[in-house]
Amino acid sequence: MRNVYIDACSFEKMKKLTIEYPHYENGGLLFGRMNPEWIRIYDVSDAGQNAIRTKYGVTFDSSYLQQYTEERLKEDIFVIGTWHSHPAPYGLDPSPIDISTMRKMGKLFDEAYLPIYFIVKVEKNNFFANVYTIEERSVIRQEKFWMV
Ligand SMILES: [Zn+2]
Repeated sequence: MRNVYIDACSFEKMKKLTIEYPHYENGGLLFGRMNPEWIRIYDVSDAGQNAIRTKYGVTFDSSYLQQYTEERLKEDIFVIGTWHSHPAPYGLDPSPIDISTMRKMGKLFDEAYLPIYFIVKVEKNNFFANVYTIEERSVIRQEKFWMV
């Protein structure tokens, strides 16, 4: 089990990007650092200008994400996972498609540095967020996180 820390700015940015699309999914990448004991999130991206956002999913704008990632790499922070929103009234549980996407992405990472996933939503002006980790590239588990 790894402790997950997210800085308040990144958390606020995710909230803002969720509120902007109340009826559609939005999402992006999580940037930070990790080791076998902890994960620290220092930035989150949007899905990008050419992303396709629907009620049931979001397809990221890959050229936007590539450029965004290159900028973060200059600051020595790395892609450590993804986030996406679920429009109300959907909950925060990963859908079967989410789980399959999480597993596919897990395969791209080293066993000791598997990615994490935030699923968030806004309902009645309250922002909710769950974080999931993947173990051994296949087991999805909800984790606690701390805002710092
Ligand atoms: Zn989802």
